[in-house]
Amino acid sequence: EGKLYLVPTPIGNLEDITIRAKKVLTNADYVAAEDTRTSGILLEKIGVHNHMISFHKYNSKERAPELIKLMQEGNVIAEISDAGMPVISDPGYILVQECIKHDIPVVPLPGPNAFSTALIASGFNQPFTYYGFLQRKSSEQKTYFEQMEKAKATSIFYEAPHRLAKTLKNLATVLPADRQIVAARELTKIHEEFIRGTVQEVTDYFAKNAPRGEFVILISPNTEAPKQLSWAELIDLVNTLVKKG
Ligand code: SAM
Repeated sequence: EGKLYLVPTPIGNLEDITIRAKKVLTNADYVAAEDTRTSGILLEKIGVHNHMISFHKYNSKERAPELIKLMQEGNVIAEISDAGMPVISDPGYILVQECIKHDIPVVPLPGPNAFSTALIASGFNQPFTYYGFLQRKSSEQKTYFEQMEKAKATSIFYEAPHRLAKTLKNLATVLPADRQIVAARELTKIHEEFIRGTVQEVTDYFAKNAPRGEFVILISPNTEAPKQLSWAELIDLVNTLVKKG
C-alpha cells in the first residue's frame, strides 16, 4: 500500500536520527528531499542508499501530483527536509493536504525539532505559541510582538543570525524592560548556548558576541496578575454603586 512517511532528521547532531527514521528511509521506495545535495550527504553519513526526488517550496505545487500518483500506484514515499521535522517551517504541508484529499495514509515519525528542543530547556512554561519565521518588515513584526507581550503563553519564533540585532531592537520597543527572554543557539551542536535575560541583556550579549549559527527565540509569558482592588478602592466602588441605587 502506498503511503507518505514524514521523517524528521537531525538539527545538528547526527546521532539524533532515530532507528525508526533510518529504517523508514531505507525501506521507502523514494525519499522526497527538500535539497537532494544536503540530504544526500546526510543519507550517506547514516548509511542509507535510496532514490531521491527533489521536493521543495518552489516545485511542490507541480511535484505533489506526481508524488500522489506514485503513492496511488503503491509506492511508499519518505519525506524529509534539510533539518528537523518536515512541515515545521519547511516544505511538506501541501503534500500532506493532497494525501488527505486522496485518502493516502500519512505516517508522521517523532524526532528532532528546534522549537520544542529550545522550549524544554528555556525554563518557560506551557502553553506556548509557535510563530515560525516572523515577517521581516518592522511594522509587521511589531504587530506580532504586541500579541506576544500580552500573551499568557510562551512565544517562540525562528530568526536568522544576521537579522537578530534588528529584531531584538524592535522587540525592545514593545516588551516591558523586565520581561525575560531566551535566545537558544546551535541546539544539539558543539556551540549550543542559551542566552537568558531581558531584551536589553540579550542585546548587550550579542553586541559583544556576534550572533552566529541558528537561533530560536523564546519570550516568557505575561504573568501580570489582573488588577486587584485595595480595600479603600473597594469601599469607594461599593459607595458609588449604593449611591447609584
Ligand atoms: N524543520 C525545522 C524544525 O523542525 O525545527 C525548522 C526548519 S527552519 C527552515 C530552520 C530554522 O530552524 C533555523 O533558521 C533556526 O531558526 C531553527 N533551527 C534549526 N536548527 C536549529 C538548531 N540546531 N539550533 C537552533 N535553531 C535551529
